[in-house]
Amino acid sequence: MKLELHLIPQTSYYMNLRNHLGNRWGILSKKIRSERNYTCEICGKQKEPQKMHLHELWSFDDNLCIQKLIGFECICSICHSIHHWGLSQLQGKNMIFLTKYACDINDCTEYEWKQYIGEAWQEWNRRSEIKWRIDFGDIEGYFK
Ligand SMILES: [Zn+2]
Repeated sequence: MKLELHLIPQTSYYMNLRNHLGNRWGILSKKIRSERNYTCEICGKQKEPQKMHLHELWSFDDNLCIQKLIGFECICSICHSIHHWGLSQLQGKNMIFLTKYACDINDCTEYEWKQYIGEAWQEWNRRSEIKWRIDFGDIEGYFK
């Protein structure tokens, strides 16, 4: 899938770079979004700077229990809502619209998308039982 779910395990909610950096997050977010021309790296839409989001990309080593920050995506609010599918449901977003949007970008059927979501939740359940060690990598390097 081109546009995937990026579900954060329950055991590491809020342990993100945004919270870790505090005020400096805004500086970093602006720098990277500007470098990437405020263009969505998934759907290609270009919008006003304040409507583009910076999304953290994480890798999960299920054996070593390490959750590592591996980079960022400059994306639009809709693609971001799909990455955080569970949060979007809780926030009461229009899931019918988001489903259609995801199927469009991924060129898949609604059935295939629902199957994919089911698998993503299974993985989330498994990962939510692990106490993750968070590795932010070279934080200062992102500011250069
Ligand atoms: Zn997008």
